[in-house]
Formats: sequence, C-alpha cells, structure tokens
Amino acid sequence: MDKLSHYTIRTSDRRVFRRCLRKWSFQSSLRGNWKYRGTEQNINFWFGSAIHFAMEDYHGYNVFGDPRIAFWAYYQAFPEDELPAGAEDYYPLGISMLSYYLTWYKRHNAASDFETALVNLKTGELTDPHHKDPSAQYYPAVEQTFMIPLNVWVAVDENDNIVKTYWNASDLPELFMDDTFILDGKGCKLVPINYHGTIDRVVFDKLGRLWILDYKTAKGADTNKLDTDDQISAYMWAFTKLFGQKPYGFIYLQLTKEAVQEPKRLKNGSLSVDKRQKTTYSLLKQAIIEEYGKVENAPSNIIQFLNYMAEQEAPEGDRFIRWDFVKRSEEELAAHERHIYGELRQMLNPDLYCYPSPTRDCIWDCPVRDWCLALDRNDTSMIEEFMRNFEKRPHDEDGNVDPWRENIPWPDENGMYKDKDGNMKPLPSLEEIIDYDLNMTIELDSDRYASEGTFNFAYEEKE
Ligand code: SF4
Repeated sequence: MDKLSHYTIRTSDRRVFRRCLRKWSFQSSLRGNWKYRGTEQNINFWFGSAIHFAMEDYHGYNVFGDPRIAFWAYYQAFPEDELPAGAEDYYPLGISMLSYYLTWYKRHNAASDFETALVNLKTGELTDPHHKDPSAQYYPAVEQTFMIPLNVWVAVDENDNIVKTYWNASDLPELFMDDTFILDGKGCKLVPINYHGTIDRVVFDKLGRLWILDYKTAKGADTNKLDTDDQISAYMWAFTKLFGQKPYGFIYLQLTKEAVQEPKRLKNGSLSVDKRQKTTYSLLKQAIIEEYGKVENAPSNIIQFLNYMAEQEAPEGDRFIRWDFVKRSEEELAAHERHIYGELRQMLNPDLYCYPSPTRDCIWDCPVRDWCLALDRNDTSMIEEFMRNFEKRPHDEDGNVDPWRENIPWPDENGMYKDKDGNMKPLPSLEEIIDYDLNMTIELDSDRYASEGTFNFAYEEKE
C-alpha cells in the first residue's frame, strides 16, 4: 500500500489546475504524471534550488560554514555538460546575492532574533534551540518535506495507474481494504491521497513564537499577493496538521535576482545621483563618508540622493532582499481547507474533460505547448517526438527527488572533498570560491536575469 501512496497534490499542482486543465493532466500525479528526463534545464528553477540549498545548509547543519561555499558545492554537483544554459552567468549572481544576504540578515534579524527550530528525533516535536534537552537528539527544521493524509482514497487501475473513483475515508468500503480488487471488471489498487510540500525553514523568534520561513528568488519583490497567496495559507494549514499547533505567522523572504553594486561614479570620479543604479543606502552612505568625512559635508544633490535611498528602504528590507510577516486566522485556514477539498473533488472526477485554456502566456509559461498544439492537429509524429523528452514519474517517489544531492561534495572531517574526477582535495578557500567564475567564459548582460522567459512546470517549481 505504501508504494502507491504518492498520489499527491501540491500547491503548484493546484495552481496549474486552475490555469489549464490540459497542462495539469499532463503532469499531475493524479493523471499523466509525466516529467522531463534528465537534469533540470530551466535555469530559473536550477538557480532557485541552488539558493535554497545554500540557505538550507547555512541555517541548518552549516557544514560548509558559509552559504557561498554551499552554493559552490551545489554547482559542483552537476557534470559540466549537464549544467543548464546560463549556469556560468548565474554563479557570480548567486555569490553576490548571498554576500549581500549575510550583511542584510545580520542587520534585519537583530530585532526578532529568529533561530532555526530543532526537531526532536524521537518525538518529532519542535523545540526552541534555547530550551533543548541536552540528553535528546535533534535535527534542524530546514527543508521539511511533508505528506499530509487528506483522508481521501482512490481506486487506481493496477496497470495504467489511472484514477477510477474515490471515497472519503469514512465511506471506504471495507471490501476494498485489500491491496487489489476488481472494479468494473478491471484490477484496481486502493491508494490514499496526500498533500505534499516542503517547508524551507521553521524558526522561533525571541518571544518563543513559531514561524514558517520561505525563500523566493524572483526578478522583483511582490507584496501585493501576500494576503491571498495560497501557498502561505496551505503551508500554515499543513503546519497545523503536522505539528498540532498553528504557527504564529509566515515569513515570506524574497531575494531579487540582482547583484548589489558599489555606488556609481561619474567620469570625473564624483558620486552619481542616478536613481537607476543598483546600490543600497548603506553602501552610498559609506562612500559619502569616505569621500567627505561626514554626510553633512557632501553636496546637497548627493545628500538628497542619500535621503531618496533611505526612503527606498523599509523595516522589511530593500529592493534586493525583503521579508514580510504574514498572518492567517483560524477562519482563513478552515476556509483554505475547504478550498483544498473542493479542488481535490474536481481533480478526482474521472469524467473531468481536461480542455486547454490558451492565453497569451502559453508561449512562456507552458512547457508542453508543442504537445498541446500537436494534439489538436492530431500530429502523431510530433507528439512522439515531443514525448521522447519525457518519462513517467514513478508512483513510489514523492515528486521531490533531487538526484544532485548525491553528488554534493561534502567535506570529510579533514576538510577534504571528492572532486568530479574522484580525487580528494581540500575545500577551496572562500576567496577562491568567490573568484571561481573568473575561470569561466561569461558574457555579461546586466538585465539577463530579469528576462524570466520561464516555464511553470509544477513538479520542478520550488514552492
Ligand atoms: S499551451 Fe496553453 S492551452 Fe495548451 S496546455 Fe499549455 S497552457 Fe494549456
């Protein structure tokens, strides 16, 4: 029974379900369950995983001692010919973003003093690191994958895994509790449906309150969506089910894919007041003090520009990194649970006709556009050609397998790691890691990270 328990829904599935039934039917584990063969080639998802891994290590076991070294280790986990196009460009960007994160976090975390929660290995309970039992064993609450049973069961065809019908657990016919049974003349298996997701980090604040913390890398921070964001609602709902207590709130931490730059200078060497420059208030202030001794001595247009830069920064952060603290009431979580079950009932309807929902976004948000077009043209050779790049995701994996994790060059107790050729080497110094991209061939274009042109493929989406 366990082997077939990975019929899941995720928040990303639900979003695709609402966006386009045809796309959803291709990739959902309740339907086609197709996934792209080989290494993730979407640079945005690949890079998102890199930043998540760096944060996971830094705020978890901190084996590498610095998120930039963990970021380098992630890069090493891929053979050169499997790196997605543009990975070399993203290396210095990642190093720059993480360098800024270190200073940003120190400054912004001073007030709340968030610390990673510990999970008791034996009981699964969350513990404040300040109140841990010295005799117990713990692991840090980072990258916490969850499977919440939805108490809904489906009968799936034992040959093609297609969902035939479903029951709430309370209505489940006893007859069907065996592993296999006959339904409408076909051999079927009974499997439970789970809500699947990964919580990036659980933290305690200095008042002992629990928060979920989630990282997002994006071309720009978006705060308009937070009140209605379904991942926030779903994760707070899931957390409550998992740990038996409602989290105090959700910290939505957004890292913009932009490298922080030193303040710009004009040809004559004086500081520029160009508002488009990608610098910060503190870097500008530091440059002014270095040049004029104190801010008051600077020319008025530079002081005005410094004031402008100050206005761009809020307690939540600046244009490069910000975090927002979001709450959900008990009523909102209960409503969200109803939404989940409402969507699930529609998803499980075996008669649901999965029609396409074409929009102007198909060109950039759909990885199966060619297949979609070929279907309507009945172009079988095109469909065959397209499907060569896809394979069925096994139903005994949880949809979140990261093969690259096996290749992370973890250091041994002597600080030695195995390189791509299998040779043992000392871990490079931080300086070498920061300059690692100097040996790569990079064509720099300052706006390239902003051109998302990305696919929105549910299983690869880093929630
Ligand atoms: S191309 Fe558009 S309509 Fe077709 S499957 Fe993709 S999202 Fe749906």
